[in-house]
Order: sequence, then structure tokens, then C-alpha cells
Amino acid sequence: MAPGHIIPMIDMAKLLAKHGADVAIIVTHVAAARFSSVLNRAVQSGLSIRLLKIRFPCEEAGLPPGCETADLLPSYDLMGNFFTAIDMLQKPLEEMLTGLALSPSCIICDKHLHWTSATCIKFRIPRIIFDGMSCFTQLVTHNLHVSKIHQTVHPNEPFVVPGLPDKIKFTKLQLPGTFNPGSIDFSEFRERVRITESQAYGVVVNSCEQVENRYVDEFRKLKNGKVWCVGPLSLCSNDEFDRIQRGNDQASIDHYDYDQCLKWLDKRKPKSVVFACLGSLSRLSPAQFIELALGLEASNHPFIVVVKGGAEIERWIAGEGIEERCRERGLFVRGWAPQVFILSHPAVGAFLTHCGWNSTLEGICAGVPMITWPMFAEQFFNEKLVVQILEIGVGVGARGVAHLGEEEKPENKVMRDGIEEAVRRVMDEREEGCERRKRAREVGEMAKRSVEEGGSSFLNVDLLIQDIEQLCKNLTSNRSSMEDSIGV
Ligand code: UDP
Repeated sequence: MAPGHIIPMIDMAKLLAKHGADVAIIVTHVAAARFSSVLNRAVQSGLSIRLLKIRFPCEEAGLPPGCETADLLPSYDLMGNFFTAIDMLQKPLEEMLTGLALSPSCIICDKHLHWTSATCIKFRIPRIIFDGMSCFTQLVTHNLHVSKIHQTVHPNEPFVVPGLPDKIKFTKLQLPGTFNPGSIDFSEFRERVRITESQAYGVVVNSCEQVENRYVDEFRKLKNGKVWCVGPLSLCSNDEFDRIQRGNDQASIDHYDYDQCLKWLDKRKPKSVVFACLGSLSRLSPAQFIELALGLEASNHPFIVVVKGGAEIERWIAGEGIEERCRERGLFVRGWAPQVFILSHPAVGAFLTHCGWNSTLEGICAGVPMITWPMFAEQFFNEKLVVQILEIGVGVGARGVAHLGEEEKPENKVMRDGIEEAVRRVMDEREEGCERRKRAREVGEMAKRSVEEGGSSFLNVDLLIQDIEQLCKNLTSNRSSMEDSIGV
């Protein structure tokens, strides 16, 4: 229940409805408000989408009111309470399902809501999971679980992940929490997710075959064919307001960010601006924000930087006078930035990203090269795809994961020189930079084609719907043997 998961699921709901499915989205009140304009527009355009709202038990779980998505938590120390609240949703969800006039043909749920597995078994509904990650990540994760190679090496020593189509190296320090735990013990939760993941009927992935072809094939083999790549989901709408309001209706109610960014971008040369946004959850420490801001300034290229800091960062900005000093060349956007909208502007020439999977795909779709600063979760995997496999990015030199709430960890310390150097290389007008830009444009074009009529993702949405229709028919005619085969 974080923007990086809810945003693509809302996009997916619209996509399924566009392909003829009747969709009901179960969502909490605050999340519903964040998406209300986008969803209202979708419904007004004739799509069959219903919103079923469920109360999020903040008070019962010891959370401040309104903390219904992870980015709204005042501190990641409350993550345990947040997970408790999520677990408490099982009962109201089951009451909601009991009250429905018609049973759903299937439920697509985030795999981290592991208890949906028990619910789907109880209600005899096929369950398809979504976890917001790439097939490359799925395969690396699987191969690490099987080989356990990371357990045999020193944390700083690079090792090759066995069984992949490419020679891919990581250190243990770059691996997500499952293999490289932080200070909070999530092992029990992760194990439950892993077990219930294997019970799902299939997996939908926000990716496309053109971006990670061989990894899609391998992952599909692993899941006996029940993998549908239906992305990039950020392309599901061409409506300008959908792009502006994506993920946070509230931020653009007065169109402040939108107007400000648009006017500023309109004055810049094509492909000249570096857009720096580090996702919805990362909170840079003041020291790291200083490195980012000074690195961008030193690169001498125009930039937009999204500031999601607290008072200390604002004090530094004011005291340093950097906003004033860079007025002609740098724009500091506070809070939620209309990322997909900004990326689609012709003045944007590069994307400095934390390599969250949605941001990575959004950068790919924008057809611009990336400056990569992975931070937590599977972001080092995404960096590898961008820098080594697709060859459309340059890293700033991050060396290891700093889990959420542990941003001060020295492993992930990035210096301004690393940022300046990566920006210069990506924006370079000589051969290396031009080649990279060309590749980024080509990968972006391929990604866009995949969601157009006849493209692989377009076809996969139809195949997914047909598969579920067939499954429902089989279930009706041959209940018991089919139920065994799909785990309900
Ligand atoms: N996002 C945005 N504005 C922001 C921060 C994030 O629009 O200021 C969106 C971004 O476009 C992406 C999602 O939030 O769709 C973040 O997901 P991602 O997987 O990239 O990273 P996470 O936030 O989960 O770390």
C-alpha cells in the first residue's frame, strides 16, 4: 500500500476496463481521494469501473489518522503498525465479498497482501498477483533463493548471479532486504509472502517483452506460462490531466506544481533539462540532499529537483541561497511532482532516478537516458537493467542498499562529484552520450509500441482476460478437479 504499487494497479484497472472487463477497485478512503479525478474521468469516458471503499484501521493499529499509504507515514518507525493495519483489512474485505451480488471472476492483488490467498481460497476465487517489479527482478530473486550464492561471499565481494541470460554481478550489500536484512526483522512477513506467492494462479507484470525480452521468457517458463506482461502501465492514458494528477490528486488541485513546471520547462531548450526525483518513499538525509543539489549545480545543466525533505533541508536551501543562485537554471519542486507529465516534456533530456521500477519504466517510456541512484528494495537490480543490459544509463556510484528509515547508512553515501560526473556523461554531446541517447529513444519507442493495438502488452491484456474467462467456464463445468489445479 504505497504509491509505487497503487498507481500501477489503478492504471491496470483502467487498462482492463478498456479491454472490456468489468472492474471493481477495492481501496481505502485516502487512497480513493488521491485517485478520484483520474477515476472519475475514466468512468465518465464509459469504462466499467467501480470503486469499493474500505476503512483503513489507523486508530486500531496505533497510526496517526490518514496514514493509509506508506508515503504518508510521519516516520518509518511506524512500519510495523502499518503492516498490522494492512493485516486488519482481511475481515472487512471478506465482509465486502460476502455482500457482493456477483462473485468476481478473479482478484488481482498485490502479493504483499499475503492473506488474500486465504481469502481467495475461502471464497473460491482465482487469485492473480502483482508486485510491481520487473521479470529481471523476479528471475534474479528466484535464482538467489535457489542458489543462496550471496550467503557464500563477503558482503562487499561481487558475485555472478547463476542461471541468468547475462553475466550479472552484485554484492550482498546491493541486495534487497530478503537477502540483506535491515535492522527491522521482516523475515516472517517475507516468508508468508513467498509461500502465498507460489499459491497464486498467475502473475501480472508491469513490463513489456521489448524491454526485457529474455527475462520475460525465462520468468514465464518458471511460472508455467501464467505470466502476463501488460505494461508499461504509465502509458495507459494519453489524457494530459491524467498525467498531471497521477498518484496525487491533491497536489495538483490548484495546478500549482503543474503550472510552475510547465512555464519553467517551456523556456528551456529541447533535451536540456535533468529531472531529479527519487520516488515516493525515499527521504534523503540532509547531507545527501546537499550532495545532490550541489552535484546538479556543478554539472552546469538546467535541472528540476524534487524536494521531499524536512525542515533541516529547507533550512539548508534557504541558508545556502542555492534556489536564488540557480533561479535561472534550477527549479526546486516541493512535495509531490507530476513526474510522468514532467518526463513527457520535450525540454527534459535526462532523468536522475532512484530506480524504483515504476520510475525506471517511466524514464524508459520518456526515451531519455538515466542517471541512476538506487537506494533500497530491488533498485540495484533495476539499475543493472538500465546501465548494463539496456545501456541507457550511468550510475552515480551508490554502493549498497540503505533500507527505508536507515538512510544514514554509509554504504549508500553518494558524493557530489559522482552526481556531477554522471550528469556530464549522460548529457555529453560526444559519441558516448549520443549513442546512449539514441538507444534510450529506441527502447522508449519499442516500449510505446508494445501497448499500442497489436503490440505485445496489448495482446497480453486480451490473453489474460480470455484465460480468466476460460477458467471460469471450466470451473463451472468441472468444479472439483479445476479447483485443485488452481489452488482454490
Ligand atoms: N511519483 C510522482 N511524483 C513524485 C514521486 C513519485 O509522480 O513526486 C510517482 C512516480 O511517477 C512513480 C511512483 O510515484 O509512478 C513511484 O514508484 P517507484 O516504483 O518509482 O518508486 P517508489 O516510490 O515505490 O520507491
